[in-house]
Amino acid sequence: VVVECLGGALVGNAAEIEQDGERVPLRQRLSAIARGMSRTVIDQLYPPICPACETASETPDALCAECFAQLRPITAPLCPLLGLPFAVSIGPDALSAEALADPPPFARARSAVRYNDIARTLVSRLKYGDRPELARLLARLMVQAGHEFWAARPVLVPVPLHVRRLIARRYNQSGELAQAIGRITGLSVDTGLLRRHRRTRQQVGLSHDGRVRNVSGAFSAHPQALERLAGRPVVLIDDVYTTGATLKAATRALKRGGADHIDVLSFARVVSGGEMPI
Ligand SMILES: [Zn+2]
Repeated sequence: VVVECLGGALVGNAAEIEQDGERVPLRQRLSAIARGMSRTVIDQLYPPICPACETASETPDALCAECFAQLRPITAPLCPLLGLPFAVSIGPDALSAEALADPPPFARARSAVRYNDIARTLVSRLKYGDRPELARLLARLMVQAGHEFWAARPVLVPVPLHVRRLIARRYNQSGELAQAIGRITGLSVDTGLLRRHRRTRQQVGLSHDGRVRNVSGAFSAHPQALERLAGRPVVLIDDVYTTGATLKAATRALKRGGADHIDVLSFARVVSGGEMPI
């Protein structure tokens, strides 16, 4: 079967085949065929479906048109610090009231989309649904949202889970997003730069103050953080930015460890609606 598929004759020693007049190492050719075949086999066993509504779709790793239309991308004009969308543009330096009232420890926050029903579905599928390929789809949108970050060649650092939660869930959704962004941008991912050494309660259902108390002191930077960074900035990666308590606590831990420029990037952002520029 393999020989038929090769479309070329085996010549001389079996380590090379002749194809289109060119000698190609057999191993290289076979692995190319195996990759092509496995893609076809996978498509037959698991026809592409929309990762949100699970109806059949034409392309793998893409939302169907209806689900895509429900995403609310966060685009300019926005607060240059917190990344909150503004209803109207009043100049590139206008800050949100929230950024002025409570300046964040990180330099800039950006998110791909507003947190709504479709964003919630995608994030919970990523977290609990054992669909790590979903990370590729979300990462593509995040790479666009963080376009101002990439020229500085930052290190990507996912917000870590506590080790016991990681074992229970088998993978860290923020880690999956960071790895997928790393593959698109060619940037390196450091999953060991930040550690979650205290087990925190789930943030869901806690008040703003409760969230801050819950995560303060939960993170620490690697003792060799400075050496590992070698002067590069950091982009912290998380799935959802709610009050920012987790990302702020993680930023403070990295700063204590010596990092001096930290931006944060999340897939979805809770936007309460009334953000107006001042
Ligand atoms: Zn859909």
